Amino acid sequence: MEELLDKLLEECRPFTTQGKVATYIPELAKSNPADLGICVLSSDGRCYQSGDAQKRFTIQSVVKPILLLQALMDNGEEYVHARVGVEATGKPFDAINVTDQTLHSDHLNPMVNMGAIAMCTLIRGETYEEKFRRVLELTRKLAGDPEIQVDEAVYHSEKRTGSKNRALAYLLKSNGMIEDDVEEVLDCYFKACSMSVNSRDLARIAFVLANRGKLPQTEERIFSARYAHYVNAVLMTCGMYDGSGNFAVDVGVPAKSGVGGGIMAVVPTRMGIGIYAPALDEKGNSLAGIQLLKQLSERMYLSIF
Ligand code: GLN
Repeated sequence: MEELLDKLLEECRPFTTQGKVATYIPELAKSNPADLGICVLSSDGRCYQSGDAQKRFTIQSVVKPILLLQALMDNGEEYVHARVGVEATGKPFDAINVTDQTLHSDHLNPMVNMGAIAMCTLIRGETYEEKFRRVLELTRKLAGDPEIQVDEAVYHSEKRTGSKNRALAYLLKSNGMIEDDVEEVLDCYFKACSMSVNSRDLARIAFVLANRGKLPQTEERIFSARYAHYVNAVLMTCGMYDGSGNFAVDVGVPAKSGVGGGIMAVVPTRMGIGIYAPALDEKGNSLAGIQLLKQLSERMYLSIF
């Protein structure tokens, strides 16, 4: 397996030159576009790695399924679904998904920014600081990595420049879909996006979703099989934004990307995959990361279709 990963990594390396690192969050512009790493955690309990699998980067939108899980665990499916829907948007991650009609829960999806910002308000906690602490704890537990922390430079960089997210949050507020102070809600969202992880962490988080809510080895249950089913279905239809259709055809597994260059891919019952390759395509998805997943899926028959 490790040999296969090494081989695919070399085959996909040229794709790293075809993408561009994100620059709209100034601190992310410092990433090295040549980085490429993968970690696969398989159901036999083994962890296979190649390339820059230990390198840390910010989780960005890969935190969205974790925010959704936390909201589901805190409130139940009915409550969450009534506030943030599950219809694929087919739009970019930061799209303003309304014209001038009233915003409805069906316009929101937890895998794009507007839905994810609304999701932060559903997480239990007296303060937004406490809500974020709980997201951090859940992320550490799912990843089996107590060292996950906020990358302060990226957090401040996004907080300083996040006008589009402020626009989205105020739109939610003006439509009565969030009640709390916009800056506090966004602070929780920016911190959650700025948690620093590596490919191994993403592979383990994906593994728990593939394993229907149970951790590897101990088989400790963190969330119900129903929530794994719910999150995986939303990942399949909207996890790669307006690239989700092509990704379903080319790779065929639930996955989530982030502008930090991470992708986590869930192969139900079989494995969790974490990838790091910060050069992005025009939709904000890791370009070489998608190619690597495509090759791996073909060689190992990973598609669920
Ligand atoms: N923090 C980023 C933002 O809100 C996350 C976007 C992403 O990873 N696609 O713009």
